[in-house]
Order: sequence, then C-alpha cells, then structure tokens
Amino acid sequence: MNTQQNRLQGVKSRIALAAAAAGRDPRDILLLAVSKTFPAERIRTTFADGQTHFGENYLQEAMEKMDGLADLPITWHFIGPIQSNKTRLIAERFGWVHSIERSKIAERLAAQRPLRLPPLQVCIQVNTSGEVSKSGCAPEEVMTLARAVAKMSNLQLRGLMTVPEPTNDLRLQRSRFESLAVLLQQCVTAGVPMDTLSMGMSMDLEQAIAAGATIVRIGTAIFGERAVT
Ligand SMILES: *Cc1c(COP(=O)(O)O)cnc(C)c1O
Repeated sequence: MNTQQNRLQGVKSRIALAAAAAGRDPRDILLLAVSKTFPAERIRTTFADGQTHFGENYLQEAMEKMDGLADLPITWHFIGPIQSNKTRLIAERFGWVHSIERSKIAERLAAQRPLRLPPLQVCIQVNTSGEVSKSGCAPEEVMTLARAVAKMSNLQLRGLMTVPEPTNDLRLQRSRFESLAVLLQQCVTAGVPMDTLSMGMSMDLEQAIAAGATIVRIGTAIFGERAVT
C-alpha cells in the first residue's frame, strides 16, 4: 500500500473502532473526503482506492476539479460558506450542501436546482461553540430554519452540520457534538424528519461518532497537511 492508501485505511480503522466503542454499525457512518487545496489527481487516485464522496469548500476550485474528473461517478458535497451569487452553480453541480445557515440561501438553491436532477441533499450548519466569528446559525434558530427548509421543493433536508472550535479537550469536543445531536432530536420530535449529523474532522472524529455522527468530514488525515495559503 502507498502512503495515501495507508492513510485512508487508517481513517477507516479509526471510524470502525469508534463505532465499535459506541455500539454502532460503522456502515451507518459515511466517510466524506475533504479535498480542498489538493489537486484533481489526488482525488482520482483516492477514488481508485474506493472513496466516492468528496467535499470541497471553494466553488471555483471545486469546479475546476470536477471538470477534470467528469468521467468519475463522484458524489460532490459543498461544505464551505455560501455567497448568494454562487448558489446557482452550487445547485447545478453538487449532490449535497452542508453549509446552509439562512433561509434566503436555501430558497435560492431550491429555485435554482435543475429539475432533471434529484433533490439537493442539504444540512443546516449550526454554530455550536458560540464563537462570534464562526459560520452557522445560532442553536435557537435551528428549529425555525429547519421547518422552512423542509418545506422547500427540490431540496431534501437531511440534517445538521457543525464545525466546533478546535480543541484537544475531548470532553469539550464531545459536548459540542452532543449539543448538535440534541438539536436534531428536538427537530425530529417536533415533526421535522432528519437523519444526518455531519460532524467530526481529522482531530475529533472519535468524539463525533460517540455522539452519533453519520457523516465525518476528513481532510488532513487522508490527504496530509494543507499548505497554508
Ligand atoms: C477543511 C474542513 C474539514 C476537514 O478538516 P480536517 O481537519 O483537515 O480533517 C471538514 N469540514 C470542513 C467544513 C472543512 O472546512
């Protein structure tokens, strides 16, 4: 195995161990490979190693890679901040969007999703750590936003996503993820069905899986350190 195959295997082992520790089936956890800053060629080899879901943060960069990889049946996830003038291309080119934080953006995505495509699978991003600078809606806003998005045609509301503050404090990591799981449960109980918790990155996927993550978004642990730009 080469380095990249080793890394991918290592991440799958971490997911399997964390799932076992939580009494969960590892098949209920989707590995999303976050390929931002890495070239299309790395995505191609990772796809050849069996990885089919890839996440990108920047539209322009993502589209260049998509064009070079159009021969591969990749499922693309948009996970970065969304400006309203970018929604059309996001609606046309991605299968999933994890980073909806206001209804205006969701409305645009719904209106611009081509009817020949299946509904866009979407998650609402929540700012679970309360940092002023962080993306995501406030926890208090989730229910209202979820109800609104659930009604939009051409979108399928799948769940909630969060990027908590980076910390080595495992209990703090865990508490952020648990708070997202509680919010999801509150929505489900209130009659807004959702099945997805998009949470956990390279440094904290174990805590996320313990708290119920169904998608982990992993960059560094698969592709290596990103160059600081
Ligand atoms: C970059 C990024 C990731 C992956 O982070 P790593 O720490 O490299 O695993 C996951 N989610 C989002 C939203 C990101 O921007």
